[in-house]
Amino acid sequence: MSGYDIVIKNGLVMDPSQGIKEVMDVAVLDGVIADLRRGINASGSRRVIDASGAIVTPGLIDLHVHCCYGIAYLAVNPDLACLAKGSTTVLDAGSTGELNFMGFRRYVIGNVKTRVYALLNIESQGMIEFSRPNQRWAGLIAGRDDMFINVDGTVDLIRRNRDVVLGIKWAHHGIEGVKLAREAADRAGCLLMVENHLQPETLKYLRKGDVVTHLYHGLRIEQHDGLLDEKGRVQPEFFEAVRRGVILDVGHGAASFRWSVAEKGLEQGVKPDTISTDLHSGSYEGPVYDLPTTMSKFLYLGLSLEEVVRAVTAKPAEVLGRENFIGTLRPGACGDIAVLRLEEGSFPLADAAGERRVCKRKLSVIKVIKDGEIVLTSPY
Ligand SMILES: [Zn+2]
Repeated sequence: MSGYDIVIKNGLVMDPSQGIKEVMDVAVLDGVIADLRRGINASGSRRVIDASGAIVTPGLIDLHVHCCYGIAYLAVNPDLACLAKGSTTVLDAGSTGELNFMGFRRYVIGNVKTRVYALLNIESQGMIEFSRPNQRWAGLIAGRDDMFINVDGTVDLIRRNRDVVLGIKWAHHGIEGVKLAREAADRAGCLLMVENHLQPETLKYLRKGDVVTHLYHGLRIEQHDGLLDEKGRVQPEFFEAVRRGVILDVGHGAASFRWSVAEKGLEQGVKPDTISTDLHSGSYEGPVYDLPTTMSKFLYLGLSLEEVVRAVTAKPAEVLGRENFIGTLRPGACGDIAVLRLEEGSFPLADAAGERRVCKRKLSVIKVIKDGEIVLTSPY
């Protein structure tokens, strides 16, 4: 053995896909995880990283971002906003539809280092109108009927892009749009992600493996639009959805995460399956910033570090049907690794309404490795 490309030594390895939480070494060779155990012999290896005191996880997976950069106003550059913050894989949640996805694929997905999967918006033009300068959000969220939908075109595009397009997204539209999204997902044989609006009606269209995002938004509670009713009780349809295997996703964004809603939901047993950012041009400079910051909010809310890491590694990999490939440090998986620091102190973090909670612990990223290549390194 002439050594590995990279060996990360002495970090606290947290890999929920294998139930691992202990100090171990990880070796990468030829772009894949080559070994994972204590005391790996690093002699002859090209790069040895001492991760003492840090947390080593599989590369993070952000299940809700908008990254059709240069195609729509709402998008962020995935290499800067996601990969450099630990997310080696992201799911673009319906930024484009059947009419403009090919531009996204050709000019962004094919040219960035981040591994990008996509959901196709059921609206054919995707979300091209969002986050234009000076645009007001009010009135744009849920219930619109002025949509252009072509189910045949949507299904056809998915069939031709199955390596990248993993499902359908319903966002901001009326219930007619949910019905057409259900039909398209059934015909294409793919997952459906819906925003947590027009509840509890919308949930009825979701099946095992489908995703409801913006779990803890606090909009229009008096109309029972999301998780809670006006008395702060979880609407019973959410428990039914969990029982049939619907995935609950955070999708923080600029309007979709409220501390008070998350606290009431968690008190009543509604935990997120996946923690995602909904990073877009309106959330990138706050209140979201990045995935480690969103993860930190759930540490504050009482999830264990293992639960938080699972919600950004093993679980989203399973939702995407890629659990042997990403979100795990099993030998043979992609050489995607995040090295994180967990700082203790006093960190005021805001929700989408600007309400702050003082968090005692905050995660940040120190190193990112994608397909065996070090793409971010910072001193710690
Ligand atoms: Zn979104």
